[in-house]
Amino acid sequence: MRIGIIGTGVAGSLLAEALLDAPGMSVTAYERVARGEHAEAGTGLNVGPNALKALRLHRPVRHAALREASLPWRRWFVDLTDGTRLLDLDLLDLAEEPGMRIRWSELYRLLRAPVAGCTRSGHTLEALEEDAAGRLVPVFRTASGLVRDGGFDLLVGADGRYSRLRALTCGEPEGTLLGVCIWRLLVTEAAECPYDDYGQWFRGNARLLSFRVPGGAVYIAGTFPLGPDAQVTEAMKTEAAQRALFTPQDAPPCPAVAWMLDKVTAHLPEIHWARSATVPLLRHDPTGRALFLGDAAQAMVPTLGQGATQAVECGVVAGTVLRRGGSVREIAARRDPRVAFVRDFSLEASDTLVSGTDAVAGARAKASPAFLAKLRRTYTDIA
Ligand SMILES: Cc1cc2nc3c(=O)[nH]c(=O)nc-3n(C[C@H](O)[C@H](O)[C@H](O)COP(=O)(O)OP(=O)(O)OC[C@H]3O[C@@H](n4cnc5c(N)ncnc54)[C@H](O)[C@@H]3O)c2cc1C
Repeated sequence: MRIGIIGTGVAGSLLAEALLDAPGMSVTAYERVARGEHAEAGTGLNVGPNALKALRLHRPVRHAALREASLPWRRWFVDLTDGTRLLDLDLLDLAEEPGMRIRWSELYRLLRAPVAGCTRSGHTLEALEEDAAGRLVPVFRTASGLVRDGGFDLLVGADGRYSRLRALTCGEPEGTLLGVCIWRLLVTEAAECPYDDYGQWFRGNARLLSFRVPGGAVYIAGTFPLGPDAQVTEAMKTEAAQRALFTPQDAPPCPAVAWMLDKVTAHLPEIHWARSATVPLLRHDPTGRALFLGDAAQAMVPTLGQGATQAVECGVVAGTVLRRGGSVREIAARRDPRVAFVRDFSLEASDTLVSGTDAVAGARAKASPAFLAKLRRTYTDIA
């Protein structure tokens, strides 16, 4: 069986590694970025305990490598920007092991290393053709022009939120915006940072989120509600606008927020601005010749840090099923109910970010037994 994987991000790299020595299978991965170029995402992320559990059970060597390159994500506290505490969770009350905090470049480097031998870098999927046997033939743009590499029994779209394979086989999906802007920044001169593990700071529905990552760096993400036109304007991207969003009305910002706002001022041009959005869940094309994993299948809002986390679960589960001769429909049956639950829960947990909701009540409600039961299910209930 000839399998082609488009994209060696999170899901694609893990799937390729799982299939490397699978009997009767030949695997080639295609990646648009050049070999050794891992910094394109540029920031940090928190990966949920469920991804670590999946790796521990199915890919222990990868689990050990990622643990070594990351810091444990053990705590989740929520404050107001004046420092008033609203919530403080210990993830080990809900999960079997901590999550992790890691730099994107490190995550990609460690996941791509074991599959370098079967990866063709600098290959961007552009079009699809079909051979005489009815197999899909991907057409790639490379530095030396368009390249074809023959037909595949199965093509896997692990090419992220704007999946070209999904668009070519099933049409461009229509995204749904949450109505929230999200920006992110990696600060590398962070010795004076007054906090360590994962925290959030609210002023109204505007929220800062931050934590330390290895290498003495700190990841900071800001979110704030957008107007009815859902546009992120240049006026929103100024120091004054960001300070106004997060500075408490009647008190000075707490030391953590004051530190973050100074970093925003110093690094404004490096901030990456985006809008939170979801696309409809789709696991494969109608013929079963194209399978979608990670964001290509299920892009979700990043509120619970489950995007890359679910991409890990996708890569691990799809690898296990395909290795023993299972079908794309079996992967759909194993993944889709789980993904639907996590996506719905991520949206539910975004209540505090959306214009006009009571962020204080919403943050406190995250200590309720009902919310914690869903968080426990998210962190432990892997396939
Ligand atoms: C602001 C923000 C913050 C986030 N924070 C978190 C977080 O804290 N925790 C978390 O778990 N998730 C987070 N996410 C989500 C996370 O980024 C994604 O869910 C995750 O990267 C998806 O993994 P993937 O393997 O599906 O795709 P990706 O990691 O995006 O990998 C796709 C790969 O495909 C390649 N590619 C793309 N197009 C082509 C093409 N045409 N041809 C060939 N190759 C191609 C890309 O170069 C890339 O290597 C966040 C997302 C955003 C936007």
